Order: sequence, then structure tokens, then C-alpha cells
Amino acid sequence: MNAVAPDLLRRRLLQGAGGSLLAASALGAAGAQTRVPERASGQPMPELARPLPAGPQRRLGWAVVGLGNFALNQMLPSFADSKHARLVALVSGNRDKAREVAGHYGVEDDNIYGYDDFDRIAENDAIDVVYIVLPPALHADYTIRALEAGKHVLCEKPMAPTVAECDAMIEAADRAGRKLMIAYRAQYQAHNLEAIRMIQDGELGALKYITSAHSRNTNPEEPADQWRLQKEMAGGGSLFDIGIYSLNAARYLSGEEPVRISASIHSDASDPRFREVEDLVLFRLEFPSGVIANCSSGFSTASMNRATAVGADAVLTMEPATDYYRHSLSVSSKDGTRELGLREDNQFAQEIDHLCECIRADTTPKTPGAEGRQDVRLMLAIYEAARSGRTMPFESDYRRSREELLRGYAIVEALKQA
Ligand code: NDP
Repeated sequence: MNAVAPDLLRRRLLQGAGGSLLAASALGAAGAQTRVPERASGQPMPELARPLPAGPQRRLGWAVVGLGNFALNQMLPSFADSKHARLVALVSGNRDKAREVAGHYGVEDDNIYGYDDFDRIAENDAIDVVYIVLPPALHADYTIRALEAGKHVLCEKPMAPTVAECDAMIEAADRAGRKLMIAYRAQYQAHNLEAIRMIQDGELGALKYITSAHSRNTNPEEPADQWRLQKEMAGGGSLFDIGIYSLNAARYLSGEEPVRISASIHSDASDPRFREVEDLVLFRLEFPSGVIANCSSGFSTASMNRATAVGADAVLTMEPATDYYRHSLSVSSKDGTRELGLREDNQFAQEIDHLCECIRADTTPKTPGAEGRQDVRLMLAIYEAARSGRTMPFESDYRRSREELLRGYAIVEALKQA
């Protein structure tokens, strides 16, 4: 026996000889009589509640290069929250690990590459974007090769150990006509975006100074910390690895670029962790408006993840400021302390989707190669200032407008409405 849906049955019973029917609802109290076709028939496009995510076949295909801690624990799981990307390929020096990860995410065996056959990605049209999540000394090589293979690139921070490598990466992107974005996830994170807006809108009064501290205890037993303690692989010590968050926050919170730098470095010479790289870096940035940032990074302390912006009328505090999953944003003034209570969102997925949207719209990403290069130049200048013991001038023509700093702010509005 054929099962007939109750609604369809009701419609059939109402059907008249002329091949059309009066909808049951149209016979209701309002008395309106709307004619509807008796058969399935197309209707106009309804108003959409929110922008449509890309369907599976229209998503940009991503290859992930380097299956380490951050890739496996944070980025790969975030593809599930992305609206525009899908994972299609893996690149790893460990084939067994890559197979296991591929099996989990449904990546085809043919789409697993090693470092030796990496350049074959050029032949794979399913790959649109390559995400480089290798130790910093390898960033330039794999970024440039991915660009030469015709792919867009998201490269992890720090961009590279030297400015010359950053320049080569930017030039390769220009030559290839492909996007290069540096993975500054905090610039796509809701609490940080809201902090930028509040400062830009003068809600703290005139901004006076910023503090930012990022530190943790490195463990030489951990493979992911072993390369971090090798200068050649990491480019630097705590500054290159996590001090970059203090530096980047000082720049996006002030909305300015430093013009003078002073710094000091403190490492316990008897601690074998600091044979090649530095431990504690204290640095001070002076901005054109007179705003000062006092920043720090360390590799031998309990975890610290904090940023404050002190204005004439109020103090903004984020702690944690740049964590993976937890953030807090509060504002203190003479009226007391207000916790903003913003909900958490997946900043990794926001970052992935930002690059996809830039590729589709052919626009420059919010954090392009030039943004990564600026931090590398500044970190090297911080080392130089510490070595010299003097306050050093810093010149650059890199600038960002309020609109640039607030790109991606729509996520905050969406979270406030939710
Ligand atoms: P891991 O050491 O955990 O992973 C690095 C991976 O790179 C390895 O697992 C390996 O993958 C591959 N690799 C290739 N050659 C080498 C080599 N000679 N030595 C070590 N690894 C090698 O590091 P993380 O995942 O913590 O960091 C990777 C990158 O991500 C770095 O650039 C780091 O700065 C950045 N990062 C960014 C964060 C952020 O919040 N944006 C947070 C943490 C890290 P395989 O075995 O598959 O070949």
C-alpha cells in the first residue's frame, strides 16, 4: 500500500475538476482565497535569514603541510566549522601518520604527499590553498613552492626568520598572482576585534599606553619545543614564538606602527634551554601619537596571556587575550568594572574563511605578507635594540586604516545578536 502524507491527502480531497485547488489554509478565518498549483511547482526565492555557506562542491580545497600539534589539535578540526573550505590533501614526512589522519578526515590516499614529492601538488586541481604549518625556517621554501605551483597560501606565524625570506615570499605571491596570508588568528577573533573597535571609537578616552605579556614554560622533552629552542629552526626564542602576539596586539590595539624601540633580554646562562635562543624579552614601543606599549615574552615562566589598553577614562583588559578557546574582555572606569561577556567563536575557522572569501572576491587578505614582514622587521629591531642598549628609531611605510583594522568585525555583531 502506498503511504500518502496527510497534507497531500487533504490537498487531493480538496482538488476540484478544473485542475487547481483552494489551499486548506486559504479557506481559513481570513477568508482569502489563494490559488496554488495542484502539482509540485517552483516558487520565488525566499528571503534568506543569513548568507549561504558554500556547498561541498564549491568549497575551496585546502592542503595542510606539516601534521604537528597545532595542525592536528586546532586547525584540522576547525574545517568542520568553516563555511568555505574543505580539507582535500595532506603533506607530511610521516606517511603512516598522514594515512591515519587522512582516514579520519576522508582525504583520498592519492592526495597524501611527502616533502619529496610536494611539488606534484601543481598537478592537483582539487587543491586551491596550501596551509603551511611547519617550523618557521621552512615557511619560505614551502610557501614559495606552493605559490609557484599556482596555489594560494596561508602561512603560520612568524612569517620567516629573515626579512629577505619575507620579501621573497611576497614577491613569489605577486609573481604568481596568488594570495599570501599570514595566520594571525587573533585578528579574526571576536574579543580582540571588539577591543580594537572600542579603542578606535574612543570608548576608553584618549589611549595612553598598552601592555601585553605572553609567556610559558618550554619543555625540552616535547618535540614541538625542541625546534623552538633551536635558533636556526625557530628564527628566535620566546619573542619569535609568542612575543609576536604581544607585538602584534600592541600594533592592532594602538592602530599605529612603532617609531622608537627599546628592549632588554634576560636568559639564565646555566639553563640549557637558552643556549641558542632567548628566554625573557622586555620591549617598549613608542607610537607616533605618543602612545607607549610595554610588552614582554618568556619561555621559562607559568603561562601568561594578557593585554591591556589604558585610556584617559577607562582601562580595557583582556586575559586571556589570545588563547585558543577562552577569552575575557573587561572595561574598568570610575563607574566600576564591566565584563563584556562576548560568546566564543572559532577563530581558526574565521581565519580559514577570510582567506577563502579574499580568493573568491580577489581582495587582499587582512593579514597579508606585508603584515608578517612588519613583525619580522620589528622583532629583529627589538633584538638589535636589546644588543645596543639604546632606544632605536624604527621607520616603515606600513599603515593600516580603521577599516582595515576592523575587517571581520561582522563576527562580533553576529555574536552579539545570537
Ligand atoms: P610541531 O612541532 O608540533 O609540528 C611541526 C610539524 O612540522 C611536524 O609535526 C612535522 O610534521 C613538520 N616538520 C617538518 N620538518 C620538521 C622538522 N625538521 N622539525 C620539526 N617538524 C618538522 O609544531 P607546532 O604545530 O606547534 O607549530 C608549527 C607551526 O605553527 C609553527 O610555525 C608555529 O609557530 C605555528 N603555531 C601557530 C600557532 C597559532 O596559534 N597560530 C600555535 C602553535 C604553533 P610531519 O611529521 O607531518 O612531517
